[in-house]
Amino acid sequence: MDPYLLAFLLIVLIGSVTVYIYYLREKKAELASIRRGFCPKCHQKSIELTDKRSGGCGSPSLLTFTCNVCDYSNSFATHDSGGCGSGGCA
Ligand SMILES: [Zn+2]
Repeated sequence: MDPYLLAFLLIVLIGSVTVYIYYLREKKAELASIRRGFCPKCHQKSIELTDKRSGGCGSPSLLTFTCNVCDYSNSFATHDSGGCGSGGCA
């Protein structure tokens, strides 16, 4: 394989991994703020859970939060749905 192409692919791979890690950290910080009831964008205590969707046993549930003050809205996948205990789920 062409070493230049290999180097290019490596840079693209490292770049996308870095962006992904940064995105996850950002998302985690936003979720931490929302869990305390604060909007991560305008920092008002105006965040509301507008939608909750569960993918069923074993899969994470999707929570959608919306701010009443600004138009912030984001969805988070959480594993702590609590609906599935031991047994019953494959
Ligand atoms: Zn807001």
